[in-house]
Amino acid sequence: MKTWGTLLITIAFVVIFSIISVSMWGEKEEIIADDIQLRATAEMTVAEFGQINSLSKPLLKEVFNLESPDQMQELIAAFGMSLEQITIKVNKKNALATEDATKNWLKIPLKFALWFLFMIVCFVLLLKKMITKKTRFVLYGMGFIIFGVVLGADPSPMGTVKDAIVLYASKGVIFGPRMMAFSIFILTVILANKFICSWGCQLGTLQDFIFRLNRNNKDTERGSLPQFKIPFVISNSIRVLFLITLVWVAFVWAYDITHEIDPFKIFKPMKISVIGWIFILGSLVLSLYTYRPWCQLFCPFGLTGWLFEKLSLYRIKVDYDKCISCHACSKACPSPVMEAILKRNKIVIPDCFSCGNCIESCPADAVTFAFGKREKPPVGKFKD
Ligand code: SF4
Ligand code: SF4
Repeated sequence: MKTWGTLLITIAFVVIFSIISVSMWGEKEEIIADDIQLRATAEMTVAEFGQINSLSKPLLKEVFNLESPDQMQELIAAFGMSLEQITIKVNKKNALATEDATKNWLKIPLKFALWFLFMIVCFVLLLKKMITKKTRFVLYGMGFIIFGVVLGADPSPMGTVKDAIVLYASKGVIFGPRMMAFSIFILTVILANKFICSWGCQLGTLQDFIFRLNRNNKDTERGSLPQFKIPFVISNSIRVLFLITLVWVAFVWAYDITHEIDPFKIFKPMKISVIGWIFILGSLVLSLYTYRPWCQLFCPFGLTGWLFEKLSLYRIKVDYDKCISCHACSKACPSPVMEAILKRNKIVIPDCFSCGNCIESCPADAVTFAFGKREKPPVGKFKD
């Protein structure tokens, strides 16, 4: 009862305060611009063309590469482009202008600055083995409150992958600032093992917080309800299939398959449809039973981050001289990853979310979050 009660309070808190926060920020809706059908005749000047199609001067300047205001009076025929070519150019520029106009350029740098600070704190705590059950719970709570409830659903690590795919597929353009954000996120993955997912992502930290509601007092085993680890071969296959479907649908129908079900919308609840509520609440409830279901089963950034995680400079490592083969770390690990690390006969290591459970649970102090490659366990150290 306590678990369900706390889950309900958590979701109600997120929904109510997100509604307040969205209205305070005056959020603009993130949309992809509709294609414009243009009208033109060969005798039209650029100025007339802009007027009849309601196009702004800066947009005309970019489409026709105008170098002086006088060129507004030149005939559009003089620029050597067909109406189809002009239409494609206008729609691309319009798509980028709409992307730019729908962003909150005050909030985005603020969010990145806070992400940076927050991740540094978590990184130091993890290095110093100071992430305990209590600090973990508080940090996850702070994660989804600061980066989700207060600072909103956008930007998010997932958005940088998913929105980039959908925008490119539907309009053929790449929004530069989004690529910069994606690069920053990937850099955190390369520096410190998926750190943006671990401690920064508003949805990741919310799912992790909920998962911990159903753990024992030491945060090492399930709580009052059952918990299960999804075999990586299953979770990753679903995640890969989901990404393939997302790309395919985006290129064929210019549609975003996450439009209805995007769980980041829990931080802008007024935009959630009935189907969305069913899916999102279902995912959050499932987080009690299995670790970060959206991250493991669907998230496009989760998949991308997992690939780049192979290059991580800092990661979870085991000192096999100290290790007493008790498996306490793999039992405490919320996902199958620690088991795979201990038994390196499995070539594919699943996602590690740097939660520190393995470090905290090891009775021999053999697990660390440290720089460098992982060593393979000595042969016969762990029996299946
Ligand atoms: S994998 Fe999870 S934590 Fe990472 S971006 Fe996706 S939702 Fe966020
Ligand atoms: S191996 Fe498991 S317990 Fe250890 S940090 Fe990674 S996800 Fe957490």
